[in-house]
Amino acid sequence: PVSDQAFVTLATNDTYCQGALVLGQSLRNQRATRQLVVLITPQVSRLLRAILSRVFDEVVEVNLMDSADHVHLAFLKRPELGVTLTKLHCWTLTRYSKCVFLDADTLVLCNIDELFDRSEFSAAPDPGWPDCFNSGVFVFRPSLRTHRLLLQHAADHGSYDGADQGLLNSFFSSWPTADIQKHLPFVYNLSSSPAYTYSPAFRQFGSRAKVVHFLGPQKPWSYKYNPQTGSVWEEDPGTAPQHQLSFLNLWWNIYHHSVLPLYE
Ligand code: UDP
Ligand code: MN
Repeated sequence: PVSDQAFVTLATNDTYCQGALVLGQSLRNQRATRQLVVLITPQVSRLLRAILSRVFDEVVEVNLMDSADHVHLAFLKRPELGVTLTKLHCWTLTRYSKCVFLDADTLVLCNIDELFDRSEFSAAPDPGWPDCFNSGVFVFRPSLRTHRLLLQHAADHGSYDGADQGLLNSFFSSWPTADIQKHLPFVYNLSSSPAYTYSPAFRQFGSRAKVVHFLGPQKPWSYKYNPQTGSVWEEDPGTAPQHQLSFLNLWWNIYHHSVLPLYE
């Protein structure tokens, strides 16, 4: 295993920890050869910290408010930037030469170690506005200088969507045009949301999916699951596309078989 590179995720509360645990387990199942790191904030309970440390090599606590005053001010203007600023702390992991960040609501379906051949800043297009990247999966190089510049950028300009994606897109603003190598194929950040489905493309390319991203307000953990049938409970049967249901079932399968036993 390569010890100076890492897959990194973030969970600021016990609910998102459930996502992080499934993600971490999915990386293990796919024999990831890099370190697994989860960033947490003080709100995460002791129980969840203990469980996270059984799946991740490193559980790193970061503080929402320990940055300089200018960040404080930006934070007060835009309280929803809180989580944004927390994600930016991934640049402080300078004991790693390169990292891949994955949102806690992603699920890895194949080995994706080849992402470490890419350089900062690589990401896949956002399905809603493909000239922007989606910030749920990205390749970056930890650097205290970049971290400082990102916080400065947040203080000076805020974020046009109130979240990390707007901030990162305005910081890495040459992404849409500068270097096609920095455009990750969509299969590395496949949105599993009924609002964003191009069904014929899915039929054609869906089997190549490598990372599924459950973006949007409905997360896998907000569904109910029936362990007897191995499937999630649908509020309105027949409305969700079949592929989406199978990704949800896969998430729950890992949760049920590999995460819940960690609580015993
Ligand atoms: N996140 C978190 N706690 C929160 C909200 C978000 O830890 O209360 C982290 C988590 O890693 C999550 C990421 O920030 O995956 C981005 O948020 P989310 O995935 O909900 O946004 P979406 O992908 O739906 O736009
Ligand atoms: Mn997400």
